[in-house]
Amino acid sequence: MTNIILLGPPGAGKGTQARKLVDERNLVQLSTGDMLRDAKASGTEMGNKVADVMAKGQLVTDEIVIGLIEEKLNNSTADGFIFDGFPRTLAQADALGKLLARHGKKLDAVIEMRVDDEALVARITGRFTCGNCGEVYHDQTKPTKIDGVCDACGSTNMVRRADDNADSLRTRLMEYYKKTSPLIGYYYANGDLFSIDGLAEIGEVAGAVAAVLDQQA
Ligand code: ADP
Ligand code: ADP
Ligand code: ZN
Repeated sequence: MTNIILLGPPGAGKGTQARKLVDERNLVQLSTGDMLRDAKASGTEMGNKVADVMAKGQLVTDEIVIGLIEEKLNNSTADGFIFDGFPRTLAQADALGKLLARHGKKLDAVIEMRVDDEALVARITGRFTCGNCGEVYHDQTKPTKIDGVCDACGSTNMVRRADDNADSLRTRLMEYYKKTSPLIGYYYANGDLFSIDGLAEIGEVAGAVAAVLDQQA
């Protein structure tokens, strides 16, 4: 029973580490970004509503993302969750605390992944993912072994996010510093915060995440 939040700016490596934890610890990844992109791709009313806001790099409303998380928590029998990209505002953090309590669960750790803005630009502009299995790659730091072919599933359907450009990233970073970074203080005050160096290489970051989780166990 482990419930953790991966907290950090766009490109910090949240999704990359979340996927490793899913493989290694039998936890379920709840990424509001992925849920919103799915809604957009399947053309639901909500998906159409958020498309423009996401393209610009702004946050969608608390009501929408809290609703998405609530639905997942209500319909899942999983033991533990990795919250990836949620919560992003104090209102979302409060709502998550209440939802977990209602399900008899608690938060075990909030892992803040520290990176600097310069590294984020390089991370975001080089990011691509497998459209089939969701594996996350990077042009320089994590290329596929065979050009254009997913290491994990063999698919050649590689996708780049429309919002992974320098312009949208500027807005996303401002949103992070204004609305999400206050969560660092919030969780510090609650005694749940662990900060790790997100600039280290992927395997080293995974080691730091594992050390926090093992300390909780
Ligand atoms: P990143 O990988 O860059 O951190 P995400 O995939 O988590 O980005 O999110 C992509 C976009 O989806 C955000 O820029 C925002 O528009 C929207 N979004 C995702 N999660 C949330 C959330 N918890 N609250 C508000 N908006 C969100
Ligand atoms: P987030 O979910 O926080 O937005 P991602 O996990 O999608 O971040 O990572 C952003 C990009 O940086 C991806 O292209 C990924 O392959 C790459 N990346 C992730 N972690 C590292 C790391 N520790 N060192 C170098 N590149 C990384
Ligand atoms: Zn794949």
